[in-house]
Amino acid sequence: MTLTKSDKILVTCGLPYSNGTAHIGHLRTYIPGDAYVRYLKRFGFDVRFVCGSDTHGAPIELAAEEAGITPQKLVEKYHAHFKNIFEILNIGVDFYGTTEAPYHYKRAQTIIRTLEENGYVEARDVELPYCNTCKTFLADRFLVGTCPYCGALARGDECDQGCQRYLDADQLIDPRCVICGSPAIKRKTRHHFLKLPAFTDFLIKFNEQLKGTPLARNYALGWIRQGLKDWGISRDLKWGIPYPGDEKLVLYVWAENYAGYISFTEEWARQTGADWKDYWIQGGKVVNFIGADIVYHHAVFWPAILKGVNYNTPYAIVASGMVKVEGHGLSKSRGFVIDIEEDFIKQGIDLDSVRYYILSYTGHTKDLDFVWKDFQSKLNNELVGILGNYAYRVLLFIHKNFKKIPEGTLETPVDKQIDEAVNKIHEAFHDFKFKEAVDATMQLAAYGNVLFQQCEPWKTIKLDLKQCQNDLYQCLQLLKAIAILIEPALPSIAERIWQQLGQKGSVHDTNVENCKEALKAGADLPKPEVLFTKIPDEAVDKLATGLNTRIESARSKAN
Ligand SMILES: [Zn+2]
Ligand SMILES: [Zn+2]
Repeated sequence: MTLTKSDKILVTCGLPYSNGTAHIGHLRTYIPGDAYVRYLKRFGFDVRFVCGSDTHGAPIELAAEEAGITPQKLVEKYHAHFKNIFEILNIGVDFYGTTEAPYHYKRAQTIIRTLEENGYVEARDVELPYCNTCKTFLADRFLVGTCPYCGALARGDECDQGCQRYLDADQLIDPRCVICGSPAIKRKTRHHFLKLPAFTDFLIKFNEQLKGTPLARNYALGWIRQGLKDWGISRDLKWGIPYPGDEKLVLYVWAENYAGYISFTEEWARQTGADWKDYWIQGGKVVNFIGADIVYHHAVFWPAILKGVNYNTPYAIVASGMVKVEGHGLSKSRGFVIDIEEDFIKQGIDLDSVRYYILSYTGHTKDLDFVWKDFQSKLNNELVGILGNYAYRVLLFIHKNFKKIPEGTLETPVDKQIDEAVNKIHEAFHDFKFKEAVDATMQLAAYGNVLFQQCEPWKTIKLDLKQCQNDLYQCLQLLKAIAILIEPALPSIAERIWQQLGQKGSVHDTNVENCKEALKAGADLPKPEVLFTKIPDEAVDKLATGLNTRIESARSKAN
């Protein structure tokens, strides 16, 4: 079962949570997701791409409380932030939605009602922590106490300051209300549970057949075989989607956020005249790009929900490796973070270089450790040294001497190089091996540099003009292929190469078949401009110092 040209493919990315700014961890999902979509398009597949903001849950209610604003205001702010970041980074979603929209409420509530009708939900009395002062039940993140394992101050869901273990609220020693500090008491209340064990056989089969990265599949199968438990899908919170038929409760955020994949498709379809059912009911292949931290939700909870309402379950789950900063796990509170706006955009870093770094520094399932020096060397040695150098040298020489595309026909050596790269790329992105796909294109540019050097057009121009022109034609045709094949990784740069080649239309509308489509001899070539500039050592030292200052200041704050 592989993808075919007649498949309706839908790619989604794990939804950014609307309580903070975009950082490098986010990019590890969105950039490969976007590149995958662009590869599919270049190879003629029928693909759509949706994402949107995840706007509910206790952390947002808490963050809003701390900021002294309403949750509504908070999520609007970060929704706008992420929408903007997506645009600036050329993450070309067809629709960027929000779970705080009527279309999403409707879809999420319909799913829960259908699960109830199909007998998969049960209401049950439970005893939950309650604050007598605030007169409210304390959902996990509203609870603090002592970690039973390491003795650190821990939250109701995780020992975030200490041993990092996931916790059940019940495990906390001396649980207290996070708002007022009163001791939490137990109080009886009624909640709704998804009967997850009913899906055990389905989930095993689903994960065994699941495409994507083995990480997702293997983790999930391990958990399922340990035995699944009923899963609480309602919460005592003020902020959230009302639980249908029991409006004093809200839907647990994990039981409604991924319904966004459907509701965003529906809203996109409504606005464009497409049919969302093509993706979610009558076939369709859905590919989820996610971070490794949400495998459980995507390989267990979400497919169980989809199965329970008879919708399409994902075709593939593509989970990335972790992101580290200077060897440490990503942590905003400890300063080990690279903020997209502060550290890249405001510093004038070329954002296609950031895309390139994320895609090609290491394999998609491996851990990526961000170090400024490594970023510098990828940019300076590869983008400037190989790709930028090739494009500029060839275009400048031709512009200076001919100002037009010279006469020539594509010959076997270059033709073969292009074919081999196309085949390699096709295989690589189907296997979610984005580094291999990008590397194959960069190898074409490296080959081009050798070719140009060996042809010595600066000599043949005086000795054999026809040979010189035909040689340069090879170089230009190769550059055209590179523009098309690098577009998924470097959409802005690819478009600039395309314009510099004097091509009509946009590289974003091309297909791999255009790689070898003959260039029109005699067409004007504009004066070329350099594509990339090196980051000098002083600049990268300054960026690294900025990061170290952030880490130091976080450390002194903590002490
Ligand atoms: Zn309280
Ligand atoms: Zn702990």
